[in-house]
Amino acid sequence: MLRFAPSPTGDMHTGNLRAAIFNYILAKQRGEKFLVRIEDTDMERNIEGKDKEILSLLNLFGMVWDELVYQSHNFPRHAQMAEYLLSQGKAFYCYCSKEFLDQKREEALAQKLPFRYNDAWAEIEKDSNQKPVIRLRGASEEICFKDEIKGIVSFKPHEVDSFVIVREDGIPTYNFACAIDDMLYDVSFIVRGEDHVSNTPKQMLIQRGVGYEKLLQYAHLPILLNEEGKKMSKRDNASSVKWLLEEGYLPQAIANYLILMGNKTPTEVFTLKEAIEWFDITHVAKAPAKFDLDKLRFLNREHFKRLSEQDLAFLLDHKDPSVGGLAKLYLQESSTLNELRPKIDALFAPKIAQGEFASAMILLYPHLRAMIEEFSPALKDFEAFKKEAMERSGLKGKPFFKSLRLLLTGSENGPELSDLFEYARFFFNDIIRLKEPS
Ligand code: GLU
Repeated sequence: MLRFAPSPTGDMHTGNLRAAIFNYILAKQRGEKFLVRIEDTDMERNIEGKDKEILSLLNLFGMVWDELVYQSHNFPRHAQMAEYLLSQGKAFYCYCSKEFLDQKREEALAQKLPFRYNDAWAEIEKDSNQKPVIRLRGASEEICFKDEIKGIVSFKPHEVDSFVIVREDGIPTYNFACAIDDMLYDVSFIVRGEDHVSNTPKQMLIQRGVGYEKLLQYAHLPILLNEEGKKMSKRDNASSVKWLLEEGYLPQAIANYLILMGNKTPTEVFTLKEAIEWFDITHVAKAPAKFDLDKLRFLNREHFKRLSEQDLAFLLDHKDPSVGGLAKLYLQESSTLNELRPKIDALFAPKIAQGEFASAMILLYPHLRAMIEEFSPALKDFEAFKKEAMERSGLKGKPFFKSLRLLLTGSENGPELSDLFEYARFFFNDIIRLKEPS
C-alpha cells in the first residue's frame, strides 16, 4: 500500500501534490493500492471543507484512491497502541509542565547545547500536574534507513530523545498516529517532503516499539524553491495548486512539470499515465528543485496541442470543435487558458469600428454580411473569399487585410488570416458583427 496523507489545514501546496503524484505512480507501478489518509488529528488547525477540496483536486489530476480514511477514526486504535507501549515500559507518562520544559530549554540555550528531554524529569511534577502526556522512550542505538533519493540517513541515539506520542488531551501526535496507521494499512513505501526526514526515526521507533518488523521504504523529496531560489512559501503564488489552476494551467501540464522538475526523464512532455511506464524515484535529484514558471508555460502549450479540438473547445465553454481549432492557432501567443479565453471571446464579440482602420471596417462590413447571407460559395475557400470581398468592397492592400482581421478577431495582430479563415468560416455569422462606437 502506498499512501498520500494530507492535513486538511490549508490549501494544497504544490509540493504536496508532487508527493501525491509520486505515491500514486509507485502504487500503480508496484500493483499496490493507493490510500488517501486525511490527517485530521490537529482539531484546532483543521479547516472545514479542506478535505473535500484536496480530494477533488486529486480527482482532477486523475488520481483515484483505492481507500480513503480519516485518521481521527482510528483514535481508539492509537489509544490501544499507547496502552500497549505503556504496559511494556516502552512509553511512560511525563508530568512536566510547559513552564518546566521552557525553563530547561532556556538552560540548554544558555549553555549553547541542543535541548534534549531527560527521562529523569518525567515525574518531578507528578503531584502538581494532573494531565500528563505519554512519551515514547528515545532511541538506545543508532537508527538508520535507506532513502531512495538521499541515500543512507542515520540518527545517533541522542538525536532521538523521548518524544510525545499522546498529548495531555489524549489526542495522538502526528508521528504516533502516522506510524501506527502506516502499520495498520500495511504501507510499504513512503514518499513525502524532506521536512519529514527527522520524523522518520521516530516513526520507526514507534513501529519497532509495538513489535512491527516490516521495513518500509522511504523517499524524501527535496524542497521546492521559488524563482529567486528561496524556499517556496505560502507567499509564492506557484506554491498553491489552486492558484496554478485558476491561472489556467492544465492539470496534465502541472503534473508533467512536477514529475519533470529535478528529475531524469526519457522525454520532456508526457502524461501521468505515460510516466507510470518509466518513472524511477531514484532518478529524482537530491538538490532542491527550482520552480520555473516559463517551463510550465511551455508544457502547458504542449498539452494544449495534445488536446483534441473538441476538448479544448469545451474548456473554453464552446461546443463546436472548430473553436478548439481556432484556439490552437493562438498558442503561438498564449500559454494558459486565461490567456486564450480573451482571444476567443474577442472573436465572438461584436467588433467596434475605431482607430486607423475604422472607415475601412465600416466599408467592408456590409459586403461580408452580404456574402454570409447569400451563402456565397467563396466562403469555402480563402483565396476565393479574399478575391470576392476585395471586388465587392473595392478595398485592397493593408486597409483590406487590417479591416478584415479586425472584423474577424477584434485585434490588429494575430495568427495568419488564411489559418484563421479555415476555422472561423464556420462561425462567420457570429463573428462578423459590427457595433458603432458609443
Ligand atoms: N500530514 C503530513 C503532511 O501533510 C503527512 C506527512 C507524511 O506523509 O507522513 O505533511
